[in-house]
Amino acid sequence: MDDPTATPPPPTLQRWLTGPRHAGLPMRLAEHQVPALSFEFFPPRTEALEQQLWSCIQRLAPLAPRFVSVTYGAGGSTQARTHATVTRILRDTNLTPAAHLTCVGATRDEVDAVARQYWDAGVRHIVALRGDAPPGTVYEPHPGGYAYAADLAAGLKRVADFEISVAAYPETHPGAVSPDADLDNLKRKLDAGATRAITQYFFDSAIYLRFLDRCLAAGITAPIVPGIMPVSNFAQAARFSAMCGASVPAWLGHLFEQIDDDADTRRMIGAVVAAEQVRLLQANGVDEFHFYTLNRPDLTYAIAHLLGARPVTPKS
Ligand SMILES: Cc1cc2nc3c(=O)[nH]c(=O)nc-3n(C[C@H](O)[C@H](O)[C@H](O)COP(=O)(O)OP(=O)(O)OC[C@H]3O[C@@H](n4cnc5c(N)ncnc54)[C@H](O)[C@@H]3O)c2cc1C
Repeated sequence: MDDPTATPPPPTLQRWLTGPRHAGLPMRLAEHQVPALSFEFFPPRTEALEQQLWSCIQRLAPLAPRFVSVTYGAGGSTQARTHATVTRILRDTNLTPAAHLTCVGATRDEVDAVARQYWDAGVRHIVALRGDAPPGTVYEPHPGGYAYAADLAAGLKRVADFEISVAAYPETHPGAVSPDADLDNLKRKLDAGATRAITQYFFDSAIYLRFLDRCLAAGITAPIVPGIMPVSNFAQAARFSAMCGASVPAWLGHLFEQIDDDADTRRMIGAVVAAEQVRLLQANGVDEFHFYTLNRPDLTYAIAHLLGARPVTPKS
């Protein structure tokens, strides 16, 4: 039985910022210290990509992530595919799926109907996002739609008691009026019912750690889970980063110099970079990680292994 006189653990973010620091490989963690992991996938567009996704899921599933999330294409373009992927995960695996949902291009009633379908199918976790306008245009809320992710989070809570995760931006969202306004927005999303934020990926861990300090100073205690993007194709990552406002440090470009035609070395460098990053974050107390897998399991698997995750055989 639990000891009723035991002091309750401090809120997650406080624990991360004040807890013990670990460093150096190799290190054996007690089972309860192995970080909580989540993996993000995108819904496949073709039969070949579908097979790639399912072999990725099969490879990563034994690591027992606490949830896996499935993205929602720009403007709701993947609504059916996201739904199909999420419900198949629910039906065919032991994993807990989280469905991404955005405000773009739909009325509140339409978004609520999608959410209700998820609830009825047994999905209990939504990653609530604003979404983006089509390239080259500026975001305008849909008339009659949810304007921002905070409105969506509140709306979802009215539909059903979903677990809600939201996005956070250590380098500030590119459309924000100011870093403080963006932090206020994050707080609003958590106040609206979200219990966790997942960050945009970043390569400079100091930026993320400073962001955690700002979150705590702003009164945020929910986990701000780092989004980890293992990179093996630098040119592609640099292009994508320019669009989403993640800075790419010069040292990263330098590490990928002159290996454009050497995919094996690029993957090894990518693994080392991401491993360094998670080890540094772990040394700073962080024990929850979200991986942008891009539906490719190898780097994520290796880094999760370094973090202490080991395959779990399902209990029969
Ligand atoms: C973990 C993660 C997962 C993602 N998954 C997807 C996905 O599946 N599909 C997809 O299309 N996109 C996805 N995105 C991208 C996301 O949709 C974009 O970054 C989008 O531009 C912002 O979404 P948000 O939910 O952070 O928006 P919001 O939190 O609504 O914020 C958007 C901007 O508006 C500002 N803002 C908020 N409220 C107000 C207000 N009342 N007045 C003025 N300004 C305001 C904020 O400061 C910010 O600059 C994801 C991003 C992350 C980090």
